[in-house]
Amino acid sequence: MNAWKGITSLSYSQIQALQNQRLFSFINTHVYPFSPFYRKLFDDKKIDPRTIRTKEDLQRIPFISKADLIDKDNPQKFKDFILQPDKEKIKSCWPKTRLLGLALKSLSQGRHLQEDLAREYRPIFMTFTTGTTNAPVPFMYSRYDLDNLNLSGARMVELFGVKGDERIMNLFPFAPHLAFWQTFFGAVEAGVFGLSTGGGKVMGTEGNLTALMRMKPSTILGVPSYVYHLIRFAQAKGYDLSFLKNIVLGAARVTPGYKQKLSEMLKAQGAKQVYIFGTYGFTEARCAWAECPTENHLSSGYHLYPDKEIFEIIDPETGEVREDGADGELVYTNLDARASVILRYRTGDLIKGGMTHGPCPYCGRQTVRLSSDITRLSDNRDIHLSKVKGTLVNLSHFSEVLNSIAQISEWQLEIRKHNDDPFEVDEIVVYVTPQEGADQLTLSKLIIDKLTGATEVAPNQIEFIPLNEMVKRLELETANKEKRILDTRPKV
Ligand SMILES: [Zn+2]
Repeated sequence: MNAWKGITSLSYSQIQALQNQRLFSFINTHVYPFSPFYRKLFDDKKIDPRTIRTKEDLQRIPFISKADLIDKDNPQKFKDFILQPDKEKIKSCWPKTRLLGLALKSLSQGRHLQEDLAREYRPIFMTFTTGTTNAPVPFMYSRYDLDNLNLSGARMVELFGVKGDERIMNLFPFAPHLAFWQTFFGAVEAGVFGLSTGGGKVMGTEGNLTALMRMKPSTILGVPSYVYHLIRFAQAKGYDLSFLKNIVLGAARVTPGYKQKLSEMLKAQGAKQVYIFGTYGFTEARCAWAECPTENHLSSGYHLYPDKEIFEIIDPETGEVREDGADGELVYTNLDARASVILRYRTGDLIKGGMTHGPCPYCGRQTVRLSSDITRLSDNRDIHLSKVKGTLVNLSHFSEVLNSIAQISEWQLEIRKHNDDPFEVDEIVVYVTPQEGADQLTLSKLIIDKLTGATEVAPNQIEFIPLNEMVKRLELETANKEKRILDTRPKV
C-alpha cells in the first residue's frame, strides 16, 4: 500500500492548485451549508462563500481560537462546529445533479443514499483536549473522518519505514486522546501487528516491559518521559534491546538533548541503529504528522498532508499572515473533514523556521514540511512564563538545562513558598536522581551553575533521591503526563 500516493508526486504549484480547488468545494459543499457556526459567521461578516477560491481568500475569514470553542454558559457550544446536514438543507444547497450522482453511486453499491450520508456525516467517535485550565472540548469524527485518521496513521507508519512483518507497541496512555487512537488506527490501517498496552497506568511498567521483551517490536510509540522510564527500567535489568529500530514520541516536545540521551541508553542495550522520531498533532486537527528517518541530531520536519489541511503562519501579535518560511503562530484549516470542522484555527503553537516546500532531503517525498521547532501552547500551559523570585522566567529553560546534563537520570523541579506561606519568598528545589557513579557534590555545583546561567534564578536546594521515590514524585506510572515542574505556591 502507498498511503502517500498522489500527494507526493505533485509539484508545489500543483499542490497549491489542489488546495485551492478543495478549499472552494469544501466550503461551498459542506461548511457553509451545514455548519451552524460558519453559516452565521459568513452571514454576519457578509462573506460570500463562493468568493473563497484560494489560500489568500481564506484571509477574509476571521480566526477562531480555543476561546471560540468554549462558552461557560453554553457547554454545548462545540456542537455549533459540527456539520449538521438535513434533508431540507441538502435540497436547498446541493445541485440536483450532485444528489442524483450520489444516489446512483449508493444504489449501484446496494446501499441507500441515507446510509451513505450518515456514514459521511454522523459523529461516531470522539477525542478531546486535555487542557488543565480550560474545560475539555470534544472533537467529533464521522466514519469519513475515521478514514482520514486511518490514512494519516498509515502515512506515518510508512514514513517510519515499518514493514508488514514488523510489530509495533503503542505505549500512549489509554484515554480519549488523539495520540493513543492515532497510533491504534495507524497500525490497523497499515496492516501491521500492533499491541496497545495503555501505558504505565494500565499495565504498570513491569507489565509493559514483559510485553516488550516477549513481543520484540521494531517500533515503540509513547510519551517521551514514559518511553525513557521504560528503557531505563530495561537497562537496569540488563535486557537486550537490539530488536528496536524506531522510537516514536508524541504529546510532548522532544529536544536534541533527550534524543541524544535516549540513543546512548539504547546503544548500551544493544540497539545500535535506532531512529528517534518526533511527531506533532493536536485534537482539533484530528490527526498527527511525523518526521522521517534522519540521524538523531537532525530533523526532517513534520511531513504535512496538504490534501487534507492548510497551514498558515501568522504574526502572533497582529494576526498578519507571514510567508511560509517565517517564524510565527500556526493557524490550521480543514480541507477534507466532516463532523467537527474548523477554519483558520489559531493553535497558539509557535514555530521557528516555518514551512518548507519541495522534495524532502532525507526521504525525497514531495510534500510540505513543518519545522519541528514548535513550542506548544499546551507546553506553555504547564511550563509557562512565570515570575519566580521576582524574575520573569521561561520555565522551559529549566527543562532544557536539566535535560542536557548527562549525569542526571531523572529530575523534578519544585517552585514553592518558604514555609508554604503565600506571602513568603519563592524557593526552588531540584530533586535529582543521578546516573550511577555521579559525584553528588560536583553534580550539585554543575546544576546550580547551569540553571543560574540560563535563567538568572538560583535553586535553593538540590535534593538527591532514589529512583523509586522519583518515579512516585513524577507520577510516571499513575498520571497521563509526568509532573516535571511543580508549582506548589499557594494561590492568593
Ligand atoms: Zn522526509
